[in-house]
Amino acid sequence: MRRLRVGILDLVSNGPAHGMYSRLMNANLASIMPQVIGVWCEEAGHDVRLVCYTGFENLDDELPSDTDLLFIGAFSESAQLAYAISNRYRQRGVVTVLGGPHARCYPEDAVNYFDYVLGFTDKALLNDVLGECMPHRPVGVAVSAARQPVELPGVQARWKFIAQTLEKAPTIKIIPMLASLGCPYTCSFCIDSTVDYQTLGADQIRDDLRFLLTKMKRPRIGWHDPNFGVRFDETLGAIEDAVPPGRVDFIAESSLSLLSEARLPRLQKNGFKALLPGIESWFSLNNKSRSGKLDGMEKVRQVSDHVNMVLRHVPYVQTNFVLGLDCDEGPEPFELTKRFLDLTPGAFPGYSLLSAFGRAAPLNLEFQRAGRVLPFPHHFLNNNLAMNVKPKNYSWSGFYERVVDLTQYTFSWPAIAKRAIANKSTIPRMMNVVRAVSSEGFGRMAYYQRVRELLDRDRTVREYFDGESDALPGFYTDRVRHDLGPFWNDLPRGGLRHDQNAYAHAEATQELSTIGVRTVAPAPAPALAN
Ligand code: SF4
Repeated sequence: MRRLRVGILDLVSNGPAHGMYSRLMNANLASIMPQVIGVWCEEAGHDVRLVCYTGFENLDDELPSDTDLLFIGAFSESAQLAYAISNRYRQRGVVTVLGGPHARCYPEDAVNYFDYVLGFTDKALLNDVLGECMPHRPVGVAVSAARQPVELPGVQARWKFIAQTLEKAPTIKIIPMLASLGCPYTCSFCIDSTVDYQTLGADQIRDDLRFLLTKMKRPRIGWHDPNFGVRFDETLGAIEDAVPPGRVDFIAESSLSLLSEARLPRLQKNGFKALLPGIESWFSLNNKSRSGKLDGMEKVRQVSDHVNMVLRHVPYVQTNFVLGLDCDEGPEPFELTKRFLDLTPGAFPGYSLLSAFGRAAPLNLEFQRAGRVLPFPHHFLNNNLAMNVKPKNYSWSGFYERVVDLTQYTFSWPAIAKRAIANKSTIPRMMNVVRAVSSEGFGRMAYYQRVRELLDRDRTVREYFDGESDALPGFYTDRVRHDLGPFWNDLPRGGLRHDQNAYAHAEATQELSTIGVRTVAPAPAPALAN
């Protein structure tokens, strides 16, 4: 096999970044899979340059000019940036590959801008791509392994890439780790609900933690598991074997149902400093929050008691909600969330607007078949900048009105002060204040107000939201242009548009086979046409 010069770009920003918070935190958002690709490429004998793009780098300085193959890992919100970068490098003769959530969610669109689009990626699939490494244009090939890999290189194997990325994080440095993939729960809107749950092995957790203790005085680890602690005793046992209490801090996303009273002291003892349970709605998904048949105010009280109990053991808790679910109707869901905030002042609420990310979840097929998905450019699909599913039980104006009201309530000065008083530790208190007054709190509040006004005043916005026009309103085009900065000129023609119903169309026409499981022909076999 030819020795390739491989570039790997992990996009954690959707364009050039400016703010202080981005400089402090973006490098901590690095994904694991680009680092895994780097390890596997080196094992296959290739030269690798991995860049975590935090929004502050000049890519022409960072990536060697003689790159043969460029992998880009991206979430959908970075898709337009990824398309622009791919276009720039393809014009220089580089073969480009897209991986990550956007590739899994929107392969039909991404093949227009990349030579390869990877779904589930294991070592064999990667080696096929490396072996072939040839342009596929104008339409690339979408390939996927049958399932997630059963093992992944751990921290020790990825250390070179982790260390160079953490150098960009000036103060707080978070090491990305995985104990499991997939989730046994079946939340219909979630990309992980259809991925088989599997653990990655207690031995690897032990080895990685022991290794990290030789590298850092007090490592801070962010578990990237979709739902940490499903095999609670096995995972905590591995941590206890390897880490003396107090030597490592952990952050994890975990269902409330896994955070029982009996488990919390153990998490506390082992250094869990931040937990992010999903509540989602007061009227459904009760299995995640252990609220049985309760709903409405009864569920609020029960979940609030539970979260307050978690806060007695873990200093930082973010509770996640999805706004606009089909089970929600009228003012009650929003008012109940306000009551929850009153009863649980120490928790920071994270709100997501219901979004359908292409093929991510089975529910999206229903939305697409019902004509409820709007063609917002991927750039806006970060759960906040746009809700691309028409709400079932709200008008757009009525929905945004309630979202504005809820965010104003959440990020009012009395609420910020109450949260600060309820947080006993310094870092959680500061984090919550900074998040509230930054683009996340005040910024989103102003943005939602602006959208609400435009729905009244700008006919193009109203028609776009109502599905009467697919011409993107100037407000949104200007926003992408602004966010992409110098990359805007590299965005290929048509790169802002996509078929928002591609998943349903492929299912209806059996075109799924062109996107489904297949292998790339290894050289010197002839290339597969798509
Ligand atoms: S519990 Fe969390 S990770 Fe699991 S399916 Fe539901 S939303 Fe996804």
